[in-house]
Amino acid sequence: MKIYNIRLTAIEALRFWARIVEISDDDSCWLWKGKPNHNGYGRLTVNRRDERVHRIMYCLHYGPFDNERMVLHRCDNRLCVRPSHLFLGDAYENAKDRQKKGRTARWYGPQHHNSKLTAKQVRFIRKAVKQGKFTQRYLAKYFGVHESIISDVVRGISYLNVPTED
Ligand SMILES: [Zn+2]
Repeated sequence: MKIYNIRLTAIEALRFWARIVEISDDDSCWLWKGKPNHNGYGRLTVNRRDERVHRIMYCLHYGPFDNERMVLHRCDNRLCVRPSHLFLGDAYENAKDRQKKGRTARWYGPQHHNSKLTAKQVRFIRKAVKQGKFTQRYLAKYFGVHESIISDVVRGISYLNVPTED
């Protein structure tokens, strides 16, 4: 059994933490702000190797794990690195998990022309802008929607079914 046990140099650690945007609340995703790999996962070069950042975060937070196991997302957001959103599973659990979640809206990349944002995404967008963590332009690009959609969400003139907190 191979153990996944990543160690970051001081410089790598700086690069890692500098690209994570934390939203301060109990449940919002922490976004990796960097170009994802072809599968949509955040990536970082560590010791000349391409590593997926959610695996790095899991290891830093919870300790080393069996390298055969997968680090899965409770939130279905591949660019999320919030430790409480990550859990360890295998290929079977991964498939089961996907089936359970069904075809949920994507967090990154082009949405379908008729796709809707989920309540979770709407809350995320409102908090991220309110806390000054992301520009509306960045979020529009991130979610693959027009800027006016983000603007309407933030101003509270769309998605009225999702209550704006505080
Ligand atoms: Zn998340």
